Amino acid sequence: MSGDDAIPGLPLNVLQRLSELQETHGWLSEETLRQLSKAETIPLYALEAVTSFYPHYRRTPPPRLSISVCRDAPCALRGAEALCQSTRRRLATRTDVEVVEVSCLGRCEVAPAASINDAPVGAATDSGLEAMALGRTPLPSMEPTSSGRRFTTDPYEPSEPRYGVLRRLLAGGGAAIDAIPAALTAAGLKGMGGAGFPTGRKWDLVRRAEGAPKYVVCNADESEPGTFKDRVILAELPHLMLEGMLLACRVIGARTAIVYLRHEYGPEKRALARAIDEAKRLGVVAAAGVESLTIFTSPGGYILGEETALLEALEGRRGEPRNKPPFPGTHGLYGKPTLMNNVETFAHVPRILSDGPEAWKARGKNGGEGLKFIALAGDVVRPGVYEVPMGTTVRELIDAHGGGITDGRALMGFLPGGASTAFLPASKAATPLTFEALRAAGSALGSGAVMALAAGRDVLAVAANVVRFFRNESCGKCVPCRVGSEKAVEILDRVVAGTSSPKDLEALPALHETLSLSSICGLGQVALVPAISVLENFPERLRPRPRGDTKSPA
Ligand code: SF4
Repeated sequence: MSGDDAIPGLPLNVLQRLSELQETHGWLSEETLRQLSKAETIPLYALEAVTSFYPHYRRTPPPRLSISVCRDAPCALRGAEALCQSTRRRLATRTDVEVVEVSCLGRCEVAPAASINDAPVGAATDSGLEAMALGRTPLPSMEPTSSGRRFTTDPYEPSEPRYGVLRRLLAGGGAAIDAIPAALTAAGLKGMGGAGFPTGRKWDLVRRAEGAPKYVVCNADESEPGTFKDRVILAELPHLMLEGMLLACRVIGARTAIVYLRHEYGPEKRALARAIDEAKRLGVVAAAGVESLTIFTSPGGYILGEETALLEALEGRRGEPRNKPPFPGTHGLYGKPTLMNNVETFAHVPRILSDGPEAWKARGKNGGEGLKFIALAGDVVRPGVYEVPMGTTVRELIDAHGGGITDGRALMGFLPGGASTAFLPASKAATPLTFEALRAAGSALGSGAVMALAAGRDVLAVAANVVRFFRNESCGKCVPCRVGSEKAVEILDRVVAGTSSPKDLEALPALHETLSLSSICGLGQVALVPAISVLENFPERLRPRPRGDTKSPA
């Protein structure tokens, strides 16, 4: 779905036009591209360059129904591959329905996740998908749902008007606004998208950067397998995120704010669009000096979560990461200073400024400061998104919030921070979820996504699945990433299938070193980390294997 507003003051974004045309016609025909090329005087090759890059664009007519089944780790653990195959078998005679495997849909708590014509289906079954495809049961809804939970990071009571922190600070004048970056620094807030860059420092840097206009961008493109916490914030706390963005605009002097949203989040887009309308009606957008607050729907691809690839997309080009430096803080959108944070980072700002840095820090435990949203997936009884004190241990998260390991099994290992972090063994489950403690334990807090693996799981097969994800999502700009990730998948698949010796895995460390030293962006730099961590932390799992399936991480 698209339907995004044009962004006032910025050149036409051809991706938005292409998304609109696809929404109207269902696909992008040669004729449609020719007409657009003529109408907007954009060379046809430039249109082909972007339509061939973004996975959401269709260049052939779509069937009546398109069923997408997630193939990535949390869903693979819950039988996604078998689901895809059996659904295909059931619908084999239907030429009006397609069943395709796709990268993470961001609904890992209801794995295996699927979608029908982009509307999400949780806990999908082959019979359920068949019934919907054949019209025996209704198609899934695009309406957002909310659990009605109260979150501690939300400083407002349900009866209280929102945007009180923003209003108070605006009333306090320049001095109150100027003090915000220092308050965020004192609170220890770091970027919650994975990089962990100090938020107050970033805001101050962009505030001081020379150049105008300046922009605020919310990166709502989380797409890493197991990472879905921002989706819950978008659905349940959209005003909080918007309040953080408006405060950022005021601090750096931006009049344009954009939420870059992954297209798989259709229901959340509706919730966010309604919240934006409401914020405008309340007058807080204008009060913050913001003239344009819009949603930009990504036409797809995990790499768009990389900040400079995202900027390329906002400028209407292929989403290939830029060389850094310069960084977006000084040379961002159209070369202008751009402040980019993710959904969770913005959402914490009102609570910090409401209570003060010391009160925020005191909400953490075990050396952690503040609060953290964690997405919990894999072999747990109650997967989901939990708001916990920063510093909560992995064990506590799994047992107290997640209800323990599925079927009463023991924990074998876990990914503590999303697909790009290192697998750790169960013996490290007492590690607090903080940037520092996880780094000391040999992994990372990453994108705030814990995936638990029960005893008996084939951790090497899960790692192979994760590396396959990065191979699939590599933008292909750097040869080491493009070729090296493919080579790693070949090696891993053969060993997992038992068709080659685990000794072949000895090639992976050198491959990893090459990728990490020569890749432009984080994807290539970390693509092999999960596999390397299995070699280092689970040597007992590298025994010779019987010949078998290459994909199932069972
Ligand atoms: Fe693209 Fe990979 Fe290079 Fe990143 S490292 S720019 S994903 S090819």
